[in-house]
Amino acid sequence: MAACNICEEPLGPPVYRSPRPLSVTSLCEVLSGHTEVFHCSRCQQVQTTPLPDLAAYYDKTYQILVSSEEEDQLYAVVNSRRIFRTEHQVETLLRLVELPHAARVLDFGCAKAGTLKALCVRRPDIQPHVFDVSEMYRGFWEKFVPAENEATYQPKTEWHGHFDVVTSFFALEHVAEPRAVLAQAASLLRSGGVFYGIVPNIFTNIADFAVADHVNHFTPPSLHRLCAVAGLGLEKIEGAAHTGAWVFVARKGAAAASAAPADASAARVAEISDYWGDFGDRVRVFEQAHRGDTAAIYGGGFYGTFIATQLERPEAVACFLDQNPHRQKQALLGKSILPPERLPAEVRAVYVGLNPAHARATIQAVLALSHERLVFFYP
Ligand SMILES: [Zn+2]
Repeated sequence: MAACNICEEPLGPPVYRSPRPLSVTSLCEVLSGHTEVFHCSRCQQVQTTPLPDLAAYYDKTYQILVSSEEEDQLYAVVNSRRIFRTEHQVETLLRLVELPHAARVLDFGCAKAGTLKALCVRRPDIQPHVFDVSEMYRGFWEKFVPAENEATYQPKTEWHGHFDVVTSFFALEHVAEPRAVLAQAASLLRSGGVFYGIVPNIFTNIADFAVADHVNHFTPPSLHRLCAVAGLGLEKIEGAAHTGAWVFVARKGAAAASAAPADASAARVAEISDYWGDFGDRVRVFEQAHRGDTAAIYGGGFYGTFIATQLERPEAVACFLDQNPHRQKQALLGKSILPPERLPAEVRAVYVGLNPAHARATIQAVLALSHERLVFFYP
C-alpha cells in the first residue's frame, strides 16, 4: 500500500498481517488471502488493503441484512429486552442533530435504509432520499421512499447543494477512497447542512481492526482531517453514543469546533495488533486442552467466525449459539445457529465469540449456559 488514503502520507510496513492466509469479512464470509493493516503516523488513520474488485463486491456480492424486511443486528440486551441497532441509531440521531421541519434527508450508501425508514415513522414530516452503489436494495426502498428520491451508482445532478442532512451509517469504513466519497456527500449538502456519520471504533470494538472488508478504521484526528478536506467543519465526535463506534456531526462551510485532537493512537494500535496476532494461538491452546470434547461457539458474528477459522479440528464444533432471533434462522460455515436454550447436551466446551470488553458479563447473564459441565474460552 502506497499512501494514507486520508492525508496521503506514505505508509510503512503493515502493523498487522493475519497469521493464516484466511480473512473474515464483517458479514462473516471467509476469504482466502491475508488481511494487512497499516497505520498512518501523521493523521492516525488505520487502513486495510482493500479486497480485490471492491466495486463489484458491493454491487453484487455484499448483502447486509437482506433476508427480510425486519432483519437487524442486536445492539444490546437490557433487562432481557433486546434493542436492535436501527432503533438505537434513530434515537442517537434525534438526540445529536436538530432536524428542521420537512427536512430533506439523504441516506448516503444506505443499503436497506432501515434507519431512515424508522426515522420517517418518528418524524413523518421529513423528506427521505436514498443513494447506494447497488441496485439490490430497491425493493426495500420503494415501501417508504418516492421513486424520484432514489438513486443508484451516481447521485442525481439536481441533488447538488440540496440537502439539509446527509447521513451515513456504517458506510465510510468500506470505501477505498474516503476523501472522494465524503467530498461527494458534502457537495449534496446545502450551505450549513449537516453530515451525520457513524463508523466503527477499533479502540472499543477491536474486531473492526481485523475484518477483511473494512478499508478504513478512523480515529478522531483522521476524521477531523477527512472532514476538513471535504469542506466540512467537525462539530461533534462521540465515542460513547453508540457502542463500538464513533458518531460524528460535521457542518458544511463551517469551521471545526476545535483543533484536531492530539492522539496517542500508535500505542493502542500496537496493542490491538498484538492481540490479533496471538489470538489463533490462544484458541488452539484451549482446543488442545479440551480435545475430545464436543464444542459450541457462542456468537454468530465476526469473533465466532474468526475462532472457527483458527481451529485445528473445526468438526468438533456442533453448532453456533446466538441470541439474535434473525441470526438463528441462518447457518454459518455449514453449522446451525441455535438459541442458547437449545445448547446440545453433549457440548462441554464453549468458545465465546464476543467483544472481549463485555464477553464475560454477557455469558454470565445467559442462564442456559450456567452448567457446571461447561468450560469456556474467553476472547
Ligand atoms: Zn494519514
